[in-house]
Amino acid sequence: MKKELSEKLKNVSPSMTLELSALAKRLKAQGKDIVSFGIGEPDFAVEGIIKAALIDAVNRDMSHYTDTKGITELREMIADRLKKQNGINVGADQIITCCGAKQAISTALTVLCSPGDEVIIPAPYWVSYSEMVKIVGAVPVIVQTKWENGFLMTPDELRAALTPRTKALLLNTPSNPTGNLYPENILRDIAQVCLGEGIYIICDEIYDKFLYDGAKHFSVASISDEVADITVTVNGFSKTYAMPGYRLGYAAANAEIIKAMSTVQGQMIGHPSSVVQYAGVEALMCDQSFIDRNLSEYDERRKLMMGWLDRCGIEYVRPAGAFYIFADISKYTKGKPFGGSMEFSMALLEKKGVSVVPGIGFGTEGFIRLSYACSRGDIEKGMERLFEFVTEL
Ligand code: PMP
Ligand code: GLU
Repeated sequence: MKKELSEKLKNVSPSMTLELSALAKRLKAQGKDIVSFGIGEPDFAVEGIIKAALIDAVNRDMSHYTDTKGITELREMIADRLKKQNGINVGADQIITCCGAKQAISTALTVLCSPGDEVIIPAPYWVSYSEMVKIVGAVPVIVQTKWENGFLMTPDELRAALTPRTKALLLNTPSNPTGNLYPENILRDIAQVCLGEGIYIICDEIYDKFLYDGAKHFSVASISDEVADITVTVNGFSKTYAMPGYRLGYAAANAEIIKAMSTVQGQMIGHPSSVVQYAGVEALMCDQSFIDRNLSEYDERRKLMMGWLDRCGIEYVRPAGAFYIFADISKYTKGKPFGGSMEFSMALLEKKGVSVVPGIGFGTEGFIRLSYACSRGDIEKGMERLFEFVTEL
């Protein structure tokens, strides 16, 4: 008899966003007419100039191993971006590039957490956070935030979740799945609590360029050098530059943390692809006007989807960031006709061919997440089907 796989994996689930996206793709391949509001990945093509930089790097034979943290040129550009656009005072030696923000977060958790350490995660949270924490042997402590607070964690809720084993707080602003942003005053209070307790903050800011209705993003690490010293700021190229498959992300933190992350990365991964790093340099260097152009398209889609949800009589947190809407379907899941958000989502997929992600994947039942990173035509078609679905219930 073969021995079992690692104990650590006993309570770890596969990524619900990736699994549902694979299911939608399979159904499409079988010829079914599926509209996907499931996965959150930009549908825009990578800018020509970024693609050309990648190809150029291939042709220049940039095929060798690079520095574990990434090429200096890229780290300098990232440090410059964080300084100028996020007000975070960092140098290139405080930056590590990784294979996506996903790996930046998991590597940060690896170096910060010992087995049994607790990591506070406000729910609803992005599907991978709780599972990454478990994979590194730490314990996710979920703080269920309130609808009336726009699903933002209050400093009091944070205080109530602290124990002597608390090691870090995992924040995401703008948030996936709610699209809400932490305002400066709450972040200042949260940072004060973390400083007082000596705990770290991992702040995932991957959607910091996706802002609507005049919303402003605020980086917690910009508060002071003291706060920057306990914060790992995570960001990446998947969303802003529409290059999720290229796998390029990064973390900024104090030199001790970056050195530890570099040790782990050097032993387990190496570094992100050499040629993709050159594409990253070009992405940061080139004319950035396409970001605003894409953003106004996302904004149109957001309004279109909100209009349809209003017509459906479904409430939601009005999103001011990212490209998701977290919609309240609890009136259909409280006993009847569906047991929960998973049953609701599966019935919607089966009956109407519309794929969404159940709130349970984000740790909050009674909701579904709709991604509007798809064409307006798809939004019209899929939302009309959602309208029919709820009308027929
Ligand atoms: N954080 C959040 C909140 C996300 O939604 C995603 C999307 N996958 C990631 C991190 C990971 O992004 P990446 O493609 O850079 O790994
Ligand atoms: N962040 C995206 C989502 O939430 C991509 C999928 C993933 O990596 O989980 O849908």
